[in-house]
Amino acid sequence: MSARNEHQTVPLSVLLKRELANEKIEKPEIMHGQSSESKKGEDFTLIKTECQMAAADGVSTYSVFGLFDGHNGSAAAIYAKENLLNNVLSAVPTELNREEWVSALPRALVAGFVKTDKDFQEKGQKSGTTATFVIIEGWVVTVASVGDSRCILEPSEGGIYYLSADHRLETNEEERERITASGGEVGRLNTGGGAQVGPLRCWPGGLCLSRSIGDMDIGEYIVPVPYVKQVKLSTAGGRLIICSDGVWDALTAEAALDCCRGMGADDAASLLVREALQAKGLRDDTTCIIVDILPQEKPPAPVQQPKKAGKMLKSMFRKKSSESSSCNDKEYQEPDVVEELYEEGSAMLSERLDTKYPLRHMFKLFVCAVCQKEIKPGEGISIHAGVKVRDWDGPFLCFSCQEKKEAMEGKRTSDRLSSGSD
Ligand SMILES: [Zn+2]
Repeated sequence: MSARNEHQTVPLSVLLKRELANEKIEKPEIMHGQSSESKKGEDFTLIKTECQMAAADGVSTYSVFGLFDGHNGSAAAIYAKENLLNNVLSAVPTELNREEWVSALPRALVAGFVKTDKDFQEKGQKSGTTATFVIIEGWVVTVASVGDSRCILEPSEGGIYYLSADHRLETNEEERERITASGGEVGRLNTGGGAQVGPLRCWPGGLCLSRSIGDMDIGEYIVPVPYVKQVKLSTAGGRLIICSDGVWDALTAEAALDCCRGMGADDAASLLVREALQAKGLRDDTTCIIVDILPQEKPPAPVQQPKKAGKMLKSMFRKKSSESSSCNDKEYQEPDVVEELYEEGSAMLSERLDTKYPLRHMFKLFVCAVCQKEIKPGEGISIHAGVKVRDWDGPFLCFSCQEKKEAMEGKRTSDRLSSGSD
C-alpha cells in the first residue's frame, strides 16, 4: 500500500490529507430545484443526479438535467426525454478516464441528438421538440441544445455565460442562411391581404425554429445537430438556470438571476416561474430548472485506504487557453475563473464528428459514428466522403445515417425538393 516512489519523502498522513482535500475540490455538491406551469402540456424535464460512471481511473458520478419543449404535440419531447441520454452515453467510447470522458462528450452529444431524431422520425410520428441537455461532471458543465430553451450560468465570481444557442429564425441570421441554402424558405405568416405577421418561420411547415428533434413533416434542413458549449467552473461554483421560452419571453437573463439570487434552488425555481407569469401571464408552457453547483460544505466520508495517490493526469483542459471567450462576455474574466473548454455550433456533421483527439479513444472503426451499429467491412461511408481527399478517413457512417446526413445538408434529391437547387 505504499504511495508513489517519487513521494516517499512525504509522510503518508500528509498524502492522505491532500487526497481528502483533492476529493473535496474535485467534486462539487449539486443542488437543484424545478418548477413548471403548464398551458399546453408539452414541456418535459429529465433530472438524474449521482449517475455512476466507471472511468478507467475509478468510479465517478455525474448529473444530467434536460428540458424538452415540444411543439405540434408532445410525442417527440417524451421520446427525447426517454432516449436521448442513452443515445449520448452509447456514443461515448469505453475505457476512458474521467478527463477523456468529459472531452468525448461534445462529439457523443452530437451523435446522440442525431440518433434520437432519426429513430423518432422512423416511427412516423409528427411533432418536434427543443432539447437543452446539461451534463455536469466534477466542475465541468457541458450543455448541448437545439431550439430556444436557454441555459445560462452565473459563476460565483459574477458575470453571465450563455451556454445554449438561440435557434429562432427571427434572431439567428446564420441559420436563416443555412436553411435557404438547403432549399427551405424563410418568411412570415401571410394573412392573405399581403400583410405579413408574426415571427420569421421556415416553409413548408411554418416552424419558428431552425433546429429541433423530430419534425419529420417540416423539412430535413431543420436539423438536430446541437450547439455544444463546455465550461469548467472554479471551485467557487455557480448557478445554472435552464428555462423554456415561456420564461425567457418574459424575463431577461439578468432579471432572472437578480430576482432569485441567494435563494435555495427550489424556491428560486418557483419564484422565477411566478415572475414570468406575472410579467406575461400563462401564454405558454413555462418551465424552470435551477442547478446550484457548490463547494462541498462538509468533508466527505473518511476514506479507508489511500487510492493510488492520483497520478497527475495530463490535463487536456489546462492546455487550452481561456482567451477564446465567446461574444457575450462584456467584462474581463480572470483567467482562472471560468475556463471555456469547448464551443461549436456548426450544423455540418462532417465537422462535428471529426476529431482532433487520438483516434483510438474517439471511435471504433467498424461502428457507425451516429447510430453505433456495426458496419461490415467495406460498407462504411466516411463522413468526409466527397470532401477533400479524405474518403478513406474515418469516422464512418452506415448507409442509413449517411442518407440522413445528406438530407440535413440539403443534398438529397428527394421528391419534396426534386430538381432545381444546384
Ligand atoms: Zn448509422
